[in-house]
Amino acid sequence: MTLLVQKFGGTSLGSIERIQSVAKRIQSSKDEGHDLVIVVSAMGNATDELTNLASHITNDPPSREMDMLLSTGEQVSISLLAMALYKLGLPAISMTGNQAGIITESAHGRARILEIRTERIKTLLDQGQIVVIAGFQGTSLGRGGIPEITTLGRGGSDTSAVALAAALKAKACEIYTDVPGVLTTDPRIVEDAQLMPKISCDEMLELASLGASVLHPRAVEIARNYGVTLLVKSSWENLSGTLLTSKKTNVLTKSGIEHRSPVDGLELIEDQAVIALSNIPDRPGIAADLFETLSKGGVNVDLIIQATHQVNKNDITFTVNKNELENAHFQCQNLIQSIGGEISTQSNMTKLSINGAGIMGRAGIASSLFETLSNSGINIRLIATSEVKVSCVIDADLGTKAVRAVGDFFKLSNKQISLNLTSANNHEPEVRGVALDKDQIQISVKNVPDRPGTASNICSILADSNIILDTIVQSERKHKDSTKDISFTLKKNDRKEAKCALEALISNWKGASIEEGKAIAKVSAVGSGMPFTRGTAGKMFRALANKKINIEMIATSEIRTTCIIPETDGEEALNEIHSCFNLGKK
Ligand code: ADP
Ligand code: ASP
Ligand code: MG
Repeated sequence: MTLLVQKFGGTSLGSIERIQSVAKRIQSSKDEGHDLVIVVSAMGNATDELTNLASHITNDPPSREMDMLLSTGEQVSISLLAMALYKLGLPAISMTGNQAGIITESAHGRARILEIRTERIKTLLDQGQIVVIAGFQGTSLGRGGIPEITTLGRGGSDTSAVALAAALKAKACEIYTDVPGVLTTDPRIVEDAQLMPKISCDEMLELASLGASVLHPRAVEIARNYGVTLLVKSSWENLSGTLLTSKKTNVLTKSGIEHRSPVDGLELIEDQAVIALSNIPDRPGIAADLFETLSKGGVNVDLIIQATHQVNKNDITFTVNKNELENAHFQCQNLIQSIGGEISTQSNMTKLSINGAGIMGRAGIASSLFETLSNSGINIRLIATSEVKVSCVIDADLGTKAVRAVGDFFKLSNKQISLNLTSANNHEPEVRGVALDKDQIQISVKNVPDRPGTASNICSILADSNIILDTIVQSERKHKDSTKDISFTLKKNDRKEAKCALEALISNWKGASIEEGKAIAKVSAVGSGMPFTRGTAGKMFRALANKKINIEMIATSEIRTTCIIPETDGEEALNEIHSCFNLGKK
């Protein structure tokens, strides 16, 4: 018999009637002859309601007590669902995370899964039982062997389900929810969001971490790393949903299901050139004009970065292959003549990238990369970050030294290191989905020293407080005193702690200051065909310009383009970008 892990989310279990209809759905899978492990979330908004109860007592509850409280939500739904199955004449048994053997770290509220001791589940499956397991929770082994209830973080039931599928070597993990699958964007904001029949785990990881709340990013990481067949489907209709694909099939290691080293590749791409435009006007349409001109002129741009602007002026920096430098320079010169500004170029650059799942979701990985480079005396010219890749542009002369240092640090084997490996056009869409994240703030650290170690100092001081940075942009322009600015975005919740940590750091840097940007939204387009398509960025910037939306920051990586825009423009921007890539009804 084949084993399926099926997960039902809160909305699918929002009432007794819904629990009964989920039970019927499970019955039909059982009738098809499958062994079943069912993972459930708390009913409806139960987790929000429990959080709200706590907030009436204190704004700062002990994290252990929050886990005790929130884990009760799932305990209600497992028992009710087991009863509903029992009523249909099906043998079913409910289990908490602890009873199911889900062992996690001890970090309350955000514990990662270390291992799943599957013996008890297997015995029950052998007896023909449907095993109903509480998602979102586990147990730490605790100091001195005293176990404690832990939770994985909001939305974490998806992660419980995929981890169980990996540990039990299930045929597939099916995530049942209130939409037909993964859609091209958030259907609550864009009416004609369409179902995607399939998406790669890398693309989904980007979207999930950029605001597509349909899947917990850590669930996608596990599916990607262990090659779990993952499907997202509607709880109400019998449709095929979305299939997530992954090429990796690592075996579970002793270091922990969610604890394998997130970095599993290093690549060096030589023959890169950097073009920096500075002092160009800061108004809607400039970035669109520039990247449309380049695309029409036949230039394929790789990384793009637009730093924070000063007094109505912007800097935009981008990279191209060395062979395209002359043409790109020519195209820029024509544009600069009409809009003003200066150009500088630099050939002999190399791009070094680390790859893996959930790189930016783990505080400390990017900072370790920057620190390793700075310890080797290597200055980072440009930084591009994403969930699956962090890239640094450095001087070509230092490429070999950098590979050695970074490869050693992340313990990568020769097989995991590639040189100038450009993948062939995969014929995937340039943009498969778009996402909006309104949960971020933007902070700039101004007048920081321009020397190896600065980016690494900033990132590691934040990583020490477990603060995850995103969209790190290092300005090209130097101030008169040769200092630079570094900007980044981070979660709103981390604002206070981040400012505290940064203030301590910059007290060592004369003249440096912290500046919080205006309220922002982050819109991103993701697609694995992006590196092979000219003009993607230009199209996205034009869509924003057409609506007179000003772009505050731009940061791209291989398969995503992200723009930071004023918060109030977020939903309009998402709609425009969705339609400019023809993602709606054809
Ligand atoms: P569940 O309770 O089943 O875990 P969630 O609320 O966590 O469900 O996730 C499903 C919701 O995610 C959908 O109702 C939808 O509003 C939202 N969503 C946001 N972005 C997307 C997207 N790209 N595709 C599908 N749903 C999305
Ligand atoms: N009930 C938890 C939450 O609402 C976990 C989940 O639904 O995935 O965040
Ligand atoms: Mg969910």
